[in-house]
Amino acid sequence: ARQERLDHLLSRLGYCSRSEVRDWLREDRIQVAGVADKLRSGSKVNPDQVRVDGEAIDPAGPLYLLYHKDLGTVCAHDDPRSIYDDLPMRWRYRRPVLSSAGRLDRDTSGLLLLSDDGQWLHRWSHARHAIPRHYQVQLAEPLQDDAEQILASGKLLLEGESVPCKAAQVQRLGEREIRLTLQEGRYHEVRRMMAALGNHVQTLHREGFGPFTLGDLPPGTWRFLQEAEIQQEA
Ligand code: URA
Repeated sequence: ARQERLDHLLSRLGYCSRSEVRDWLREDRIQVAGVADKLRSGSKVNPDQVRVDGEAIDPAGPLYLLYHKDLGTVCAHDDPRSIYDDLPMRWRYRRPVLSSAGRLDRDTSGLLLLSDDGQWLHRWSHARHAIPRHYQVQLAEPLQDDAEQILASGKLLLEGESVPCKAAQVQRLGEREIRLTLQEGRYHEVRRMMAALGNHVQTLHREGFGPFTLGDLPPGTWRFLQEAEIQQEA
């Protein structure tokens, strides 16, 4: 790994300010394997060998996370019910900041990709890539008989818009329950599509995004993506 100044590394990762590194060294909270000289806040270190309070530090490179958004939380940093409150506190101070590939509404649960690698996020959120999004939807009314054709036609027009929705696939799971697959992500898209069909969404959950699924990850929790998952193609 690339060597970096200890104070720069720990402040960039959100552990403490650069000046606090000196205090933490005095308090013996920081250890670096293989550094023979006395450790100073300006010492060049290998991030893989740094431990804080006895634990290996977070990845020094970009973070790539799979996150299960719970109902009632908001995809913004400055909201009292921010999704980012489900992540370690120190990541609020980490630079660059984390963001999500697309967003889910406050009243939607499900899968989000989070990262601080802007290029990678772009790959998963840019319209050009048409990543399939799989939603489970509970409806207020039974789904109308010709809904499959209408949604698959690529002609459904949302209120106030002039470009029709991309073709979407429906699978009926019950009279008022469907699985819906979209190739794009517009503001409130599922709710507005169902409204355009004269129906109403009662609950909305995103169970899949491109090749990603939630597995048994509980709501409000996250996990690191593995290298092969990060590298996979849309
Ligand atoms: N469509 C919606 O209406 N809301 C979401 O959160 C996602 C898709």
